[in-house]
Amino acid sequence: MYGNRCSFWKASLFALGLFGLLHSKQLTGVLDDCFCDIESIDVFNNFKIYPHIRKLMERDFFRYYKVNLKRPCPFWPDDGQCFIKDCHVEPCPESKVPVGIKSGNYNKYSQTSSSSSDVRECEQAHELGAVNNTLSNQSKEAFADWAHHDDAQDHFCGLDDEMSPDAEYVDLLLNPERYTGYKGPSAWRVWNSIYEENCFKPRSVYRPLNPLAPCRGDDDGEGFYTWLEGLCLEKRVFYRLISGLHSSINIHLCAEYLLDEGWGKSVWGPNLHEFRRRFDPAETKGEGTRRLKNLYFLYLIELRALTKVTPYFERSFINLYTGNTQEDSSTKDLLLQVLNETKSFPMHFDESSMFAGHKTESKTLKEEFRLHFKNISRIMDCVGCSKCRLWGTLQTQGLGTALRILFSEKEIKSLPENSPSKGFQLTRQEIVALLNGFARLSTSIKELHNFRTLLKDQR
Ligand code: FAD
Repeated sequence: MYGNRCSFWKASLFALGLFGLLHSKQLTGVLDDCFCDIESIDVFNNFKIYPHIRKLMERDFFRYYKVNLKRPCPFWPDDGQCFIKDCHVEPCPESKVPVGIKSGNYNKYSQTSSSSSDVRECEQAHELGAVNNTLSNQSKEAFADWAHHDDAQDHFCGLDDEMSPDAEYVDLLLNPERYTGYKGPSAWRVWNSIYEENCFKPRSVYRPLNPLAPCRGDDDGEGFYTWLEGLCLEKRVFYRLISGLHSSINIHLCAEYLLDEGWGKSVWGPNLHEFRRRFDPAETKGEGTRRLKNLYFLYLIELRALTKVTPYFERSFINLYTGNTQEDSSTKDLLLQVLNETKSFPMHFDESSMFAGHKTESKTLKEEFRLHFKNISRIMDCVGCSKCRLWGTLQTQGLGTALRILFSEKEIKSLPENSPSKGFQLTRQEIVALLNGFARLSTSIKELHNFRTLLKDQR
């Protein structure tokens, strides 16, 4: 079955003249732990998904993310505030945030209430009251249940403290993820603690080229890969997701590198040398290729989650509310267009093979998986660079939401058509993180294509 589908995608690749280019690289072929190949993902992402998701992330609903960047690190004393200029995050003044977004989670049911785009800020309190008044008693009850349920649900990330006085809205378009200069022991400590303490790994097994390992990163990884291959699928998947996220973050900093600061103007663009240092198989003892494959794997997982959550958004009462009726409806159309594109991908990851063993055993494993992931989201509070912390937090929350979706298949299948469900709900923050997180992966894959072209030109 997959063979035929692959042939279709390969034929498209030939038509686009890309096949030769891709095959001249070592990053090619079938991915481990799933029925999919890299070339198919490239074509699908770069031509179908990326152009649309990029546009979607420019919409007001998706560009404002509320985050507390002042939460202290719960695991070790803070290394001190990061004073690197490019780590700075400019919070968005409340007055600039669309009124519908500021009004909180109620907005999901407010389609019939507030519709004017020019509601004055001072009317906001009144506006909130109006939202509640338009809800039927049944919906109100359902909402109360839902809010209660939200607190109890098995979230994969620590619930973000949106209500904290330290939480602020950030305009993601004005604070793009790019090179910041955050590096060295502080950054290594965070990555190390994510891998060492949360990837089910015994301390005696070291990751290849780990700068904090006693053998100073000279290890060729034999011991590590023997250990990894011996793991059950679920634990292997966990490591690969984290490594994929790590790759994606590092691709962005290579693609949006500070190239020049002359005349008071910063110039950002791709740094091929930095990219090769991190991903060239020759410079990384083959690790670069493995890391990039993990990025593709993570992409597939999140793609699968988007497909699975489509019925949630297809319901007419789900509104991506900002207070501007016209914009909200076109944002929803664009979102559904992206989600429907994801459905057309023929080689999705099959998550039913995960947690499919003995019932008690797989339940324990799933819980372990969830707790490890939750811990990682807390480690993000130890990142000593605000910009890196912002995007690290958002992407971790996005991945956590994707995992929650994948393990809520039953609940999503039985969603009521016209009212919220006790079984499965997404908060605005989760939706923003899910889509922006996926957009980051989509951009990474597109950037990889650009780097390949640059490498080819250089040759
Ligand atoms: P690091 O990326 O720090 O990696 C440490 C070690 O881990 C490497 O030596 C290698 O052995 C191993 N490793 C590297 N990649 C992988 C992988 N994909 N899979 C498995 N193992 C791997 N910097 C920015 O400029 N902008 C940002 O937005 C940004 N965001 C960050 C977000 C977070 C959450 C963190 C922890 C760091 C962030 N950084 C950011 C820093 C950046 O990721 C690197 O840590 C930094 O550039 C130093 O890189 P390095 O080459 O020393 O290796």
